[in-house]
Amino acid sequence: MRGGTVAVVGGSIAGCALASAAARAGADEVVVLERTHGRLADRGLGLCIHDGRAAELAATGALPAGIAAHRLTRRRWVVRDDTAGGPAGRVFWEQPFPFHSYHWGLLWRGLREATPASVVYRQGAAVTGVAGDGERAEVRLAQGTAEAFDLVVGADGYRSVVREAVCPESRPAYAGYVCWRGNFDARRLEALGDGGWPAESVTTVCFGGGSCVIYRIPGPDGPRVNWVLYAMPPQTGRRLPFDDPTSFPPGRVTEELAAHLGALLDREFPPYWARVLGLTEPADTFVQPIYDLETARTTAGRLLLAGDAATVVRPHNTSGAAKALQDATAFEDAWRRAGTWGELLHAYQAARGAAGREMVALARRLGRGQVEQTPAWAAMNHREAESWWQGQLGGAADIGGQAMTP
Ligand SMILES: Cc1cc2nc3c(=O)[nH]c(=O)nc-3n(C[C@H](O)[C@H](O)[C@H](O)COP(=O)(O)OP(=O)(O)OC[C@H]3O[C@@H](n4cnc5c(N)ncnc54)[C@H](O)[C@@H]3O)c2cc1C
Repeated sequence: MRGGTVAVVGGSIAGCALASAAARAGADEVVVLERTHGRLADRGLGLCIHDGRAAELAATGALPAGIAAHRLTRRRWVVRDDTAGGPAGRVFWEQPFPFHSYHWGLLWRGLREATPASVVYRQGAAVTGVAGDGERAEVRLAQGTAEAFDLVVGADGYRSVVREAVCPESRPAYAGYVCWRGNFDARRLEALGDGGWPAESVTTVCFGGGSCVIYRIPGPDGPRVNWVLYAMPPQTGRRLPFDDPTSFPPGRVTEELAAHLGALLDREFPPYWARVLGLTEPADTFVQPIYDLETARTTAGRLLLAGDAATVVRPHNTSGAAKALQDATAFEDAWRRAGTWGELLHAYQAARGAAGREMVALARRLGRGQVEQTPAWAAMNHREAESWWQGQLGGAADIGGQAMTP
């Protein structure tokens, strides 16, 4: 099928990838409608993509070449052990970790720069609603205008406006815990005076009721250290606004949440790793609630969902970016094989629907094992840790997303 007009709502990872896919597949007109005005590239944070998924995505063109990535190979699981552990704690298990880490802003910039020149990328274009009659889809914009397209792609993230039309019964569900996230210039590690840790190694600090993943990422001005600490928020009886993922952006973490993090580091962390996280500026620390979201459908009429708009997978699975790029690959593939819009939408739903739901289920098991119902990690030997991990995988080959079927 060739020709047609496509609007992509949201111009982040999924939005850039889907817009490129539509243009490559032969759409006449592709418009990205992104509500923000500023540079998305400033949202600097770390994420990882599994090497297997990255190779598949590079081969399909969904992951452009030349984007800065940092190679990771091993993951060490560490507990505080004041008697036998030393300041960096005790490594109770080590496993392969075949991933590369990315800086969100650099990944976005690479995807944006790889977007074909024919794609119109409009910023400050906030979509307030979509509607469709099965033959066309209409996008309503905040300034009160409406525009019609042959297809509207919802790549507008976890609180998707497009999803409200496709699957109104699906709402993100708060998992009951949050993550504190931060990153800092890796040169700051020199202040600890020990040369840091092997660059290709990821550390997961484990404690009762949570865990923290620490690894290096590339950055615009050299390598950075990125960390994500999962735990329950303080139980004050006062309702915190955990229905809004942007409630505590960088520099706006409340004193209560900052103090809670400090107490966790003092009480649970090996001293070395507490000092590592302590190198983070308050302005580079923020708190995000963790959510699950699965949808029964990823298409309806002339509407289609991709990325976090379709599925929100808890970050323990390290699969969100890869999944968004896989959605773009499946979309392009469905387009090239289809003779009609109906065939395209049907093939996309068939390719992506079940995959999203399976990843949500896997990430729930990972969240249970690593935050909600943590085991007695300090007492585990290698074999027990391996079996605990296999229990979480529940038959899945690995974390990081599923292999794409040819
Ligand atoms: C703590 C944490 C760690 C993570 N770690 C990893 C990891 O290691 N590996 C990994 O692969 N993934 C990770 N992820 C997930 C990953 O970041 C996302 O899954 C991925 O970036 C896909 O996002 P997206 O483009 O679908 O949505 P988003 O990035 O949310 O983008 C949505 C875009 O739509 C725009 N928008 C929203 N509403 C409208 C509207 N009404 N009109 C116009 N524009 C709109 C927004 O401004 C935004 O630009 C992590 C997530 C979290 C929270």
